[in-house]
Amino acid sequence: MKTKAFFTFLVITVIFFAACQKDPSPPVITILELGDGDTHGNDHTAKIGGDLHMEVEVVAEGKIDKIQVRVHPEGEHQEEGEHEEWEIDTTYTKFSGLKNTTFHEHLEIDLSAEPGDYHFDFIVTDMEGNQSDAEADLKIIEE
Ligand SMILES: [Zn+2]
Repeated sequence: MKTKAFFTFLVITVIFFAACQKDPSPPVITILELGDGDTHGNDHTAKIGGDLHMEVEVVAEGKIDKIQVRVHPEGEHQEEGEHEEWEIDTTYTKFSGLKNTTFHEHLEIDLSAEPGDYHFDFIVTDMEGNQSDAEADLKIIEE
């Protein structure tokens, strides 16, 4: 019985590794720092008229295709209709082909942005079509 169990285990293990080699696992994202651009802070806060510092570690077995950063309002200050709300939706392609990188970029916080709670989305797509995302809370404040 013991031997049979062992062989079952072995077969499962081999299948598992074979599967892994065929399809690289989806990108792994670790948000290291997110904060004020002037100080390269990590307080998840950015100033209107200033910029947002982002430091994110990306490991992509299937090689990075593109990285998308989205920042959109969340909570009370979210207004319906009326006027266009300030938000960010940017795609970086300069990391294309890399298996891993430490993404360090800054994004401007426009003067038209409303102070309040925002949602930060970091989306990585690899060349195999796998997609992963990491999220964080972000506060936009008046200077
Ligand atoms: Zn920085």
